Amino acid sequence: MNIYTDVDLRDYHTFGVSQFCKILVEVNSVDELISVYQSVYWQYLPKVVLGKGSNILFTERFEGVVVINKLLGKSVLESKANYHLHIKAGEDWPSLVEWAVKNGYFGLENLALIPGSAGAAPIQNIGAYGMELKDICEYVDVLCLETFNIQRLTNQECSFGYRDSIFKHALYKKIVIIAIGLKLKKNWVANIKYNSLEKINRNTITSEKIFKRVCDLRKKKYQIL
Ligand SMILES: Cc1cc2nc3c(=O)[nH]c(=O)nc-3n(C[C@H](O)[C@H](O)[C@H](O)COP(=O)(O)OP(=O)(O)OC[C@H]3O[C@@H](n4cnc5c(N)ncnc54)[C@H](O)[C@@H]3O)c2cc1C
Repeated sequence: MNIYTDVDLRDYHTFGVSQFCKILVEVNSVDELISVYQSVYWQYLPKVVLGKGSNILFTERFEGVVVINKLLGKSVLESKANYHLHIKAGEDWPSLVEWAVKNGYFGLENLALIPGSAGAAPIQNIGAYGMELKDICEYVDVLCLETFNIQRLTNQECSFGYRDSIFKHALYKKIVIIAIGLKLKKNWVANIKYNSLEKINRNTITSEKIFKRVCDLRKKKYQIL
């Protein structure tokens, strides 16, 4: 675990505003995460977990602990009809989508280039180009900040809605997401119902083609990507 004091948060959030925090820690494991929340030194300090900082803006000094989620790793299990991807929360979402498409785990391509971490994806049920995380999310693993137990929430238990989930309500500030499970069909079906994807030729369509198309569209729309 790396610990820093009086850190400029400019490089830790997309807006790049220069604001400082009292303490910044980078956590590489669940045990490190637990030790941050159980530390007697930081007991009374507010804490905020950051993924890639693409949905947060610091407007003033943060007199607390910024916890940078660096829980990394991905693994794949197979069942008869599906691939089951277990993704640790600190994985970069755009890199994950690219890796999945390249390795034959199709079904994430519509969500290409959405900035952020895998762990933050369920919070607002990220979505784009006719698809949302809830369509492929099998479970979300969380660390409970009261009991320090790990719990697995099913898709239904996450109460996903439009850019919404239980993590913005009943579980707000009560948990840290440590991993997500994605269920992808082996028998992939292209999702091109969204307007700007309709032009792709249905006869020669592949996951790679949708991925490329979505990346091109997003790069045009957001110059920072
Ligand atoms: C240019 C641009 C384009 C975007 N396009 C889209 C889009 O098309 N669709 C869409 O849905 N969103 C979009 N977003 C929003 C953003 O991509 C998502 O909100 C993303 O999920 C944020 O991930 P992050 O890791 O950067 O979260 P952060 O900004 O690091 O954190 C956001 C919030 O989640 C909390 N959090 C982060 N990680 C965890 C964790 N592991 N456990 C508990 N809480 C946590 C943080 O405390 C904070 O409150 C866009 C953002 C930008 C800047």
